[in-house]
Amino acid sequence: MDNVRIFDTTLRDGEQAPGASMDVEGKLAVAAQLERLGVDVIEAGFPASSPADLEMVCQISRLVKDCRVAALARARPDDIDAAAAAVKEARAPRIHVFIATSTIHIEHKLRSTPEKVLEATEAAVRQARNACDDVQWSAEDCTRTDYDFMCRAFETAIRCGARTVTIADTVGYTTPDELKRRIHHLYEHVDGMDRVTLAIHCHDDLGLAVANSLAAIEAGAREVQCTINGIGERAGNACLEEVVMAIACRADLLPYRLNVNTRELLATSQLVSRITGFPVPPNKAVVGANAFAHESGIHQHGVLQSPVTYEIIRPEAVGAVSGGMVIGRHSGRHGLQSRLVELGLRLSESEVAEVLRRVKAGLRESRGATNDEIHQIAESVISERQGA
Ligand code: MN
Repeated sequence: MDNVRIFDTTLRDGEQAPGASMDVEGKLAVAAQLERLGVDVIEAGFPASSPADLEMVCQISRLVKDCRVAALARARPDDIDAAAAAVKEARAPRIHVFIATSTIHIEHKLRSTPEKVLEATEAAVRQARNACDDVQWSAEDCTRTDYDFMCRAFETAIRCGARTVTIADTVGYTTPDELKRRIHHLYEHVDGMDRVTLAIHCHDDLGLAVANSLAAIEAGAREVQCTINGIGERAGNACLEEVVMAIACRADLLPYRLNVNTRELLATSQLVSRITGFPVPPNKAVVGANAFAHESGIHQHGVLQSPVTYEIIRPEAVGAVSGGMVIGRHSGRHGLQSRLVELGLRLSESEVAEVLRRVKAGLRESRGATNDEIHQIAESVISERQGA
């Protein structure tokens, strides 16, 4: 079974989400938690962007022991020097060099030419390899890049010593089938692809980041760049927790080994949310407050008989304490009965029906009833029985 490496970029691309900046203490706490989670690579920052970023990457490099620590660099000598200095003390350092390969980016952003991009790739990857054994090269906006030029650029990076090469769907433009075709083309036409690891970096502009990441794995990618809670530029990056649980849950379709300890997923999600101030939506897959909650009577009855009826992930698998039944407008007797037992209350069938009727009548807005509210109603039903 192949290993799929998880490359976490919460501290780099994730922090580029508007309004998500983290302070030094927060970043160190996130790095320590990512190490506990068991990601393979932590991208700690972009050292050339500011002296503070460089210092941050240095500190993370000293702190982290069990993961690779990567620093981002544009394909420029100064950037690569800064990245090399920043990860110097890491136990397993990586320099991550990127350059845009699409005509749109080459003409409008770099104001350069394809030939110059190849030259810059060659110079940058060689320089990085002189400083560090583990060099990753990423093709920015790769998914809008002409196939022939893409192949020349990948070949150049591999020939000059990149060990991991990345397709970046920088603007979240591709689709699963199109991405697979692109990857097959690379494996068919690029010399040396079989000697390096293909990585994938997806954005969620069309809501396809996780689907595209999984498609890339099926086509041969063995490293996924992603972020906790999917934070990142614009609509964000591929969600780490969703990619991981899709692989963990569908081992029949995605038979890959992961080093991640899924039981740390919820804690990591909550930590990143607290530190960035980005709330996790209640209906968020895997880590949302409602991800394991059941409200409708039919679902509650099913889950009480056997969780496999409506739960494809056991809450414990991601570190959630219990599934939780929400007693609301759509609930039935079975769900309420199990809640009453949890609260230490024994009621007859007709009393449970009466409590349910009163709970539903008393519900305000769209939230479920709290334990206190259920308790109070049950107590009054019990006292009526005793009074009668
Ligand atoms: Mn990105």
